[in-house]
Amino acid sequence: MRKTIREIDNNEILKTLKIDCEKCFGFCCVALYFSKTEGFPNDKKAGTPCVNLKADFTCSDHKNLRKKGLKGCTAYDCFGAGQKVAQSTFNGKNWREFKGLQNQMFEVFLVMRQLHEMLWYLGDALTFVSNKNMKDQLSIRIQEIEQLTKLDANSIMNIDIEKYRTKVNSILRMANEIAKDKIAKYKINNSKNKKNLKLGYDFIGTNLTDTNLIGANFAGALLIAANMKNTDLKGANLIGADLRDADIRGANLEDTIFLTQSQINTAKGDYKTRLPKSLARPAYWESEK
Ligand code: SF4
Repeated sequence: MRKTIREIDNNEILKTLKIDCEKCFGFCCVALYFSKTEGFPNDKKAGTPCVNLKADFTCSDHKNLRKKGLKGCTAYDCFGAGQKVAQSTFNGKNWREFKGLQNQMFEVFLVMRQLHEMLWYLGDALTFVSNKNMKDQLSIRIQEIEQLTKLDANSIMNIDIEKYRTKVNSILRMANEIAKDKIAKYKINNSKNKKNLKLGYDFIGTNLTDTNLIGANFAGALLIAANMKNTDLKGANLIGADLRDADIRGANLEDTIFLTQSQINTAKGDYKTRLPKSLARPAYWESEK
């Protein structure tokens, strides 16, 4: 029998993948290993609470994270996995009270985060493809991953993540090809007097302001401290790109593909930077004078 394809509202999907720390029990501040050199307050093992995590699961240094240069904390995004594990998988039980469940909770959080990240990319792909067949394929994958997120804790820990990641990556590649074709004409018409982007992944500190970035493939690229001020990044693929301190003031990122909140949180933007609707403008970006 043919499987029914539920019509997916990508905005609804992306909304459920936003972090909601009030509904979480500080999983990212406990479950993860982190180090001082990566912008966290100290070096700590996975499963040990951060020194700043209070008994009520809030951060005692929350207001000073940026001032103190704790970029690891300000950039991290769990894609809503924290509240899902806390409220859905474990029905509101927290790891301080239910010590026997601690390790299971932390392990489930790490798997859930990966599932939610896949959902984010699939939901994002739905925003830029119009091809019916591709939309259906994305919707089927979304439904499949959503079902996994609803499993019980033991089943979640036994998910073969790599198997699903391979399937998701394959469909995202196809969606990317479609997006490239769509953008081709726009690129030709709007790239006068611009240099072609050189091949490669290393753009650390590079001045890209006079380069044609429309439809650029920045998948996995190092754009740390790159100057991309006032550039047009329509259709650019930014999956996994490192945007730490990249200057995107005045840049147009509205129609970029596979961009996440944590990438935006690490970049240097301003009130003129244009973002996809699904992403929030960081409060600390330059505001209008
Ligand atoms: S400093 Fe605050 S936000 Fe960062 S890991 Fe510690 S408790 Fe969490």
